[in-house]
Formats: sequence, C-alpha cells, structure tokens
Amino acid sequence: MSKNWRPATQLVHGGTTRSQHGETSEAIFLTQGFVYETSEAAEARFKGETDGFIYARYGSPTNDMFEKRMCMLEGAEDARATASGMAAVSAAILCQLKAGDHIVAARALFGSCRWVVETLAPKYGIECTLVDGRDLKNWEKAIQKNTKVFFLESPTNPTLEVIDIAGVAKLANQIGAKVVVDNVFATPLFQKPLELGAHIVVYSATKHIDGQGRCLGGVVLSDKEWINENLHDYFRHTGPAMSPFNAWTLLKGIETLPLRVKQQTETARRVADFLAEQPQVAKVIYPGRKDHPQADIIAKQMTGGSTLVAFELKGGKDAAFALQNALEIVRISNNLGDSKSLITHPATTTHKNLTDEAREELGISAGTVRFSAGIEDSDDVVEDFARALKAVKA
Ligand SMILES: *Cc1c(COP(=O)(O)O)cnc(C)c1O
Repeated sequence: MSKNWRPATQLVHGGTTRSQHGETSEAIFLTQGFVYETSEAAEARFKGETDGFIYARYGSPTNDMFEKRMCMLEGAEDARATASGMAAVSAAILCQLKAGDHIVAARALFGSCRWVVETLAPKYGIECTLVDGRDLKNWEKAIQKNTKVFFLESPTNPTLEVIDIAGVAKLANQIGAKVVVDNVFATPLFQKPLELGAHIVVYSATKHIDGQGRCLGGVVLSDKEWINENLHDYFRHTGPAMSPFNAWTLLKGIETLPLRVKQQTETARRVADFLAEQPQVAKVIYPGRKDHPQADIIAKQMTGGSTLVAFELKGGKDAAFALQNALEIVRISNNLGDSKSLITHPATTTHKNLTDEAREELGISAGTVRFSAGIEDSDDVVEDFARALKAVKA
C-alpha cells in the first residue's frame, strides 16, 4: 500500500484486505474464533511462527483493516482498536505503569480521562499531578524522579485550550517519559502528535471517526516496540477489544472523514465569527480565529481550525438554557463530531461532577456553551443561531 497517498485516499483504500470473493466494500467478519487445518497449524499459530488470527479478543480481520487504516492516517507503526475511547485511554495509560510510578497530566481533560488519572490510578499506587498544561513551566515543575507518563488533550474539552505538544515531548524525552495525546478534538486530519514528538496517540472513534452517532470505539496508536512491550499482552488479557461490527461501521465512517470534517470546520468557523459579533456573547473561543489566546501554538501544530466552538453568554445559565432550547436544527447533546450539529452546557452536564473551583480553573462558567458543528448546510445552522439568540437577552 502506498505511503504517499494523501489522507482522503488512505481513508478509502488503506488497510483493505479482500476475501476470495473480491468484495468491493470491506467485509465484516463476525466470528470470535478461527479454525486450523491441522494440529500442527494450530501449534505454529500459537507459537507465533505463522501469521493469522487466533481469537477475536486478540485481533480479527475487520478490526485489522480498521487498525491498519488508522496507522496509515496517523503515520503510526501499529495500533489496537478498542471498544470505546475510554478503553483506549485507560489501556494506553495503565499498560505502561506500575505502583510507584508518576503521571503528569493536563488538568483540562475529558471527564472520564481525568477520573482515570486522578482517581483510578492512585488506587493502584500510581501518583498523578494535574497541571495547567498551557504553560510548559508547569509541566517541568511537576516532574519527579518517578515520572513515567505525560498525558494531555489538545484542544481541550470544552474550552478549546491548546497545549504545545512538541514542548511537552521535549521535556518528556529529557527524562525518558512517554507522552500520551488524546487527539479527539483535533481529529487525525488537523494534528499529528507523533510527528510533534508524542509517543502514543489515542482516539475515541465514537466522535469524528464514526461521525454519525452509531457506535462506540477507540484506538491506541504507537510504534511497534512500545505496543509489543506494553500494550500487546495487556490488551489480550484484559479484553478491551472492539466488536468487529463496530470496526466495520467505523471503516465505512472513516471513508468520509475528510469530507465531513471540512464541512464541519467551515460551519464552526462561520458560527464562531457570527457569535463573536453578537451582543449576548461575552467571548468566543475558536482555534481557527486570530483572537484565540494561543493562536501562535495553533499555527505551529495544527493544520486546520476545529469542528467545535466554545462561547460564553453574558446571561449565564439562564441565557445558555434559553439559547439551547430555542435552537431547532442544533440539538442538545453531549456527543461531538457528529454529522448532526450539537450543543451542550458543560457546567450542568459533562462537567457537573467537578467542584466549582475546578470548573473555574478550566474556564467553564455558568454561561459557557460548547457547539459541535454537523454537516448540515452552514447557512441553515447560522440562521438557527441568529433566530435562537432572539430568545436571549443582551
Ligand atoms: C469522548 C471522548 C473520550 C471517551 O470516548 P468514548 O468513546 O466515549 O469512551 C475521551 N477523550 C475525549 C477527548 C473525548 O471527547
């Protein structure tokens, strides 16, 4: 398969293997096991002397196609597809750590990711320090003798802060730590963490990769050596494997990723620019705008804006609820990256479990709203906002 293909081509053809029928569309192999012609063949397969599948918890043909396609897109040597994004995140972190190790993580994390490092890991004797990841000095200050993993998300949920991935990777390399990047918000099209020096990339494929709200999925990508030494056995024996049905759904979803993300980014940019001019709106944060507080880092590490917009309404929770309730096309939902435009009020949904103080640190106020652009006609979406904002006092 050509490594020189551009992403849109990789995502249609990458990793495809065909059965004896020569099917055009990728086949779905709903089987948990495989048969061997002879006892000797089974023995050789188990010894690793011959290639081939053994058991679907370890790997299977449809999942293999999805993993190979993701590797090609990401520029990674190897990958494991998982049942959800959280299975990918928790496997990527826990498989490489043991009691006595230390994680430094950016505090602005997807809620469940934060729970894994802040609450779960310490139960097993793995310490964690959360930092304001925007300033590299904070990462440096948090380093201990036993620091093994740096973990971050960029742009972050929901306030779209960005973190200098190359800067964090440089610090990690000085101490031999590994950088794990949750690249969901950037999408694999707009940011390449491995090229920036990160060691491991994780996705919730539930978001843009499916992009049509149908199934959960995740993927961990890295070099062959790291996967063999850390993830391989963990993955086989703890069982976070993706269902082949979901792998097939995601293989079909990912074919249209570039088309969808392009349309979503265009709509997000238009909505951001529109909202920035409205009297009810105190602030708009959009990675594609010049007024983003970290526009310099964005220019360095991202090749596109974002399919998401964060904004703050002057009227707090009442204004946020009034706007959300008045929207007709844009639906209230905490998912993102979907073909349907979605909106969420983090303080009362995705981030309700944080303390007031933690929310404030993350810049989430009562008026903060997160918009995820869909693939509708962007004129209709902007008009939906224009109409709905009439329900919100300036
Ligand atoms: C959704 C999401 C996850 C978790 O993914 P699931 O597929 O829901 O398990 C992790 N990180 C980020 C940034 C996400 O948006």
